[in-house]
Amino acid sequence: MKLKSMSFRKKVLILGIPIDALTGAEAVDEVFRLIDSGSQHHIMTPNPEMLVEARRNTAFRTVLNETSMNVPDGTGLKWAAGFYGKPIPERVTGVDLLTGICSKENIPPVFLLGAMPAVAGSAAEKLKQLNPGLKVAGTYSGSPAAGDENDLINRINLSGARVLFVAFGAPAQDLWISRNLKKMPSVVLAMGVGGSFDFLAGTRRRAPACMRSAGLEWLWRLINEPRRFKRIFTAVVVFPLLVLRARARGE
Ligand code: UDP
Repeated sequence: MKLKSMSFRKKVLILGIPIDALTGAEAVDEVFRLIDSGSQHHIMTPNPEMLVEARRNTAFRTVLNETSMNVPDGTGLKWAAGFYGKPIPERVTGVDLLTGICSKENIPPVFLLGAMPAVAGSAAEKLKQLNPGLKVAGTYSGSPAAGDENDLINRINLSGARVLFVAFGAPAQDLWISRNLKKMPSVVLAMGVGGSFDFLAGTRRRAPACMRSAGLEWLWRLINEPRRFKRIFTAVVVFPLLVLRARARGE
């Protein structure tokens, strides 16, 4: 047993998915414990849409239950945990966790996979500005299509990357990691990061801090990306209703 890798994290079950009750800083520390553990780890940053998706998508639900860490990326998850009487300290977004990990001096070489062409490269440059010592083993846009898998795996294996960030959007990115992590033996930590590269590269703007702290990021997204209406509706209407129903049923 690797004692160094052992930690006893508090978890909250939300719609059947275990969510880690950690602050952002604790999550970064935990990531480095996982990196040092000597085995491979997949971590995720679930949001309300992902938990709703997991109810009908069995493969995705299985992945969410097999990850080494799930940090709560969404005000909705913080609300749900409080509603269950098991509060989580704060929302930890994918982009904040990614930035926190890459800001540490001892971060092993990273690979940024996904997003539109050139976005991963710009995101890597931004991360290097924040931490000039960061070793970027590679960046590549790629695609989650099955036919591209071998090419992507070869690139990552040849790059010497030990940490892999994948931006194909959920659930594709996490299903991709789950299918392929074992084929990339040097990668010790892989994380699905959604739109994080876009935020870092500046191709998508984050909601102002006041809207984020007021839990109104969904409104920002609705104004800026109205085509995402269905996703936002899922997050702010469907998810809370499912939580209320689960509570009423004593689940
Ligand atoms: N993406 C991609 N290939 C795809 C689908 C999505 O590279 O086939 C990228 C997209 O360009 C974006 C990222 O996946 O950079 C995350 O997309 P999404 O908008 O779903 O992010 P979220 O809102 O979940 O953070």
